Amino acid sequence: NKQIVLKDYVVGNLKEIHMEIRSLDVPMMLIPEKGGLLLKNLYLSWDGYTRVLMSKPNPNNYGNSFVPGSVIDCYGVSQVIDSRHQDFQVGDLVWGIIGCEHFTLLPSPLDLTKIKYTDDSIPLSYYTGILGMPGLTAYVGFHEICSPKKGETVYVSAAFGAIGQLVGQFAKLMGCYVVGSAGTKEKVELLKNKFGFDDAFNYKEEQDLTVALKRCFPEGIDIYFENVGGRMLDAVLVNMNVHGRIAVCGLISQYNLTEHDGVHNLFCMVTKRIRMQGFIEPDYQHMYPQFLELVVQYIREGKIVYMEDMVEGLEEAPSALIGVFSGRNVGKQVVRMNHN
Ligand code: NDP
Repeated sequence: NKQIVLKDYVVGNLKEIHMEIRSLDVPMMLIPEKGGLLLKNLYLSWDGYTRVLMSKPNPNNYGNSFVPGSVIDCYGVSQVIDSRHQDFQVGDLVWGIIGCEHFTLLPSPLDLTKIKYTDDSIPLSYYTGILGMPGLTAYVGFHEICSPKKGETVYVSAAFGAIGQLVGQFAKLMGCYVVGSAGTKEKVELLKNKFGFDDAFNYKEEQDLTVALKRCFPEGIDIYFENVGGRMLDAVLVNMNVHGRIAVCGLISQYNLTEHDGVHNLFCMVTKRIRMQGFIEPDYQHMYPQFLELVVQYIREGKIVYMEDMVEGLEEAPSALIGVFSGRNVGKQVVRMNHN
C-alpha cells in the first residue's frame, strides 16, 4: 500500500517537502472489522480544503486538522474489495472520504455514497467533482444561498475550478448574465467558448480589479459566488448592487497565507444592504439525490459540460495539489491511481 502522509503542519506555502509518499513493504493485514470495508481507490480528488486541514488545528477552520505522520484524507472514488457491512457488496463502486492511498480500510462506511450511474457519458471520475462534493457545493451554493432570479448579474471567481465552472453554467441555465474570472488566457477563452459564460477576464492581468469589475458589470453585480477572498472580495463589494447576495464558498487566496488579507470595503455591506452567507456542503447532503438526478440528466442532454485535469499515479499527486494554489490545474484536479 502506498500512501501520502503529512510530515508536519504547514505554515505558509504548501511544498512537496510537507508530504511524503510512504510505501508499506510489510504485508499489511488489510482485513475489515465487522461493519467495515476494504476499498481499492481508483481516483483521488484534490480540493482547497485539503490545504486548510494541513494547518495547525484552529477552531476557526473546518473540523479537525490532519495529524502529522498520518495519511492525508481526501474525497475519492473506490471499489469495495472486501466487505463486512450488510449494505455493501464486493464490487460496489462508491465515492466519499477516503485516504490518499492505494487501499483504504474503513471501520465504517458512514461517509460513502454508492455510485448509481456510470457509463460513457458519466465517467467514474465525475464523482470526485461534478457528481460529488464540489458539484453539490456549486448547486446548493448557487440555488440555496444566492436566491437567484432570471436576468440577474452573477460574478464567479476561480470560475475555472471544479465549482466555478458549474456555478456559471447553473446561472446561465437560470437565465442570468454571468461573468467569471480565472488566471490564464486559455481559461478565460474556455469560460466563454466552452462553458457559455457571457464574459470572462484574467484577474492576474488586471491593474485594478475594481475597474475590471466595473467594465464587466456597468449595472453592478447582483450575485457574487465567492471562491477566492482577499482583494477580490474587496473589489467586488464596491461593485455590488443594493440587496445583492454573496455566497461565501471558499477563500482559496488565503489558504497559504499566515495572516489573512484585510478587506477594507466592508461598510458596503451596510450601505448596499448586502446579504453575505457562508455555507458548507455537508449541511446539504440530504439534497444529493435530487441534485444527482438533475445533473446526470443535464450531462446526458449536453446542457452542462465539465473539464477535469487528470494526473496519473500517487507519485504525481503532491505536485498536483500544490498546483491548485497557483492555478496550474485546468479544470477539476483529479489523480487517477495506477496501483504501481
Ligand atoms: P479548484 O481546486 O478546482 O480550483 C482552484 C482554483 O482557484 C485554481 O485553479 C486557481 O485558478 C484559483 N486560485 C488558486 N489560488 C488562487 C489565488 N491566490 N487567487 C485567486 N485564485 C486562485 O477549486 P474548487 O472549485 O474545488 O473550489 C473553489 C472554492 O470552494 C475554494 O475556495 C474551496 O476551498 C471552496 N470549497 C468550499 C466548499 C464548501 O462546502 N463551502 C466545498 C469545496 C470547496 P486560477 O488562478 O487560474 O483562476
